Amino acid sequence: MALLHQLFLDSLRATQWYDADKLLSFQLPQIERMCRHAASATSAYAERLRPLFRFGDSQSGKFRFERWRDIPILTRRDLATNIDAFTASSTPEATGAVRTGTTSGSTGTPLAYRASTLMDIASICQNERVYEEHDFDLFPPFASIRLDPEAIYPEGKRRKGWSRSAPSGELGVLNLHTPVEQQLAWLKEFKPTHLHVYPSVLEPLIEANAIDEPLRFERVMTFSEVLSPETRRAAEAAFDCKVVDCYGCNEGGFIAWQCPVHETVMHIAAESNFVELLDEQGEPVAQGELGRVVLTSLHNFAMPLIRYDVGDLAAFGPPCSCGRGLPALSRIAGRTHSVFILPGGRRLVPDARDLAFFEFIPMRQFQFVQHTLNDFELRYVPAHDGRETDPAGLLAHLRRRPKTTESPLLPRRGISARGIPARAITF
Ligand SMILES: [Zn+2]
Repeated sequence: MALLHQLFLDSLRATQWYDADKLLSFQLPQIERMCRHAASATSAYAERLRPLFRFGDSQSGKFRFERWRDIPILTRRDLATNIDAFTASSTPEATGAVRTGTTSGSTGTPLAYRASTLMDIASICQNERVYEEHDFDLFPPFASIRLDPEAIYPEGKRRKGWSRSAPSGELGVLNLHTPVEQQLAWLKEFKPTHLHVYPSVLEPLIEANAIDEPLRFERVMTFSEVLSPETRRAAEAAFDCKVVDCYGCNEGGFIAWQCPVHETVMHIAAESNFVELLDEQGEPVAQGELGRVVLTSLHNFAMPLIRYDVGDLAAFGPPCSCGRGLPALSRIAGRTHSVFILPGGRRLVPDARDLAFFEFIPMRQFQFVQHTLNDFELRYVPAHDGRETDPAGLLAHLRRRPKTTESPLLPRRGISARGIPARAITF
C-alpha cells in the first residue's frame, strides 16, 4: 500500500473517535487552505469568498471563519453552467494530477467535473475504513455493478486488488445497463463474496434471485442512492448477507458511511468533507429536521466545491452511542436516481451520456417523465445557442435505435412541443 494511502488510512482510524470540537479544529486549517487556493486559482471564488478574508485579501488577509455563512450556496446548476469559472487554473503539486469525469446526468444536469488525485486517494481510504470497520474479508472476489459502458457482458472487466490492503483480491465490474438475467449469470460465473451495487439495481436482483441456486454474499455494499429499510431487509433475506450503505457523489467524493454498530446511522466522513444541513433560508436545521446537504470538499483542489448544494436532503440525529464523534445522520432523503420501468418489469437507470437529445434540441436542462409504460414526456429548458430545434430529427434518431438496447425511449406517438420555459415534447 502506497505510503500516502497508509498515512491517510492511519489518520482515519484515529479521527473517527474525535469529538466535535477536535474535529472542527482538524477541519478548519484544511477549509482555510482550500478557500485561499480557490480564491486565487478560480475566477468565481475570487469574488464569492471575499468576506472570508480581512481586507478581501485571500493571500495574507486573516481568515474569518465567523463570516462563513456570508458565502453564497453553490448549486449544481450554477456549477454546470459556469464550470470554467469554478475550475482551478493550477493546483498545488502535492494534490496530484487532475482527472476529468462526467456524472450520469440523471438529475437533469450532466456535470463534466474535475477531481484531484488527492480526493480520489481520500475516497479510496474512506472505503478502506468501511471495509475494516464492517469486517470485510479482503481476499475473496468483489463484484461491482456500476456505470461503466466498457464492462460488457459476458466478461465485464476484471482486475486484482479491490482493496489496497489485499492486492490479490479480484475485482469484477459489470455495466449496470446489463439485463438482470445476465447480471445473475455473470455473478454465478464470477462467484464474488461481496457485491457493490446501486439500490435500484439491487432490487430486481433480489427478485430474480429467489428461484433455484440462489446467490449468497457476505457483504452487499450499496452507494449513491437512498437505501430503504425494505430493500435492506429483502437483500439480507435473499442473499444471506450484511448490507453496508455508503453515501457520496462523483464531484465531491465520499460523504457518509453506515455506522458499524447502528445500521440506521450514517456517519459523516468529516475528514473528506465539511458538511452543513441548511433550510431554505440558508440557516442550519435543528436535529431531526431535513435540510439541504451542503458540502465543502477538503481535497478537490482541481474544482473547489465550497458550500456546494449536492441536491439531497438529510437530517442530523443525536450523537451516536458507538462513541464515534463523526456527525451522525439519522436520515438521507432525495438522491432518487430516476429509474425507468420497462414493459418487462426491468428497471433502467438512465445515463444522459447515452442520449442524443442535445444534438437535436439545444437545451440547458431536461426532465423525463414516465407517465405509463409506453408514454414518456421530455421537458426541457432551451439553451438559445443559435442552433435550430429539430424534434423530427430526434424522433427519427430514436426510431433508428436498435431494439436490443431495450431503450424505453422508442416513441410510439408523434412529438409535439408545448410550453415555455419548460417546453415539453411528448412521445
Ligand atoms: Zn455510530
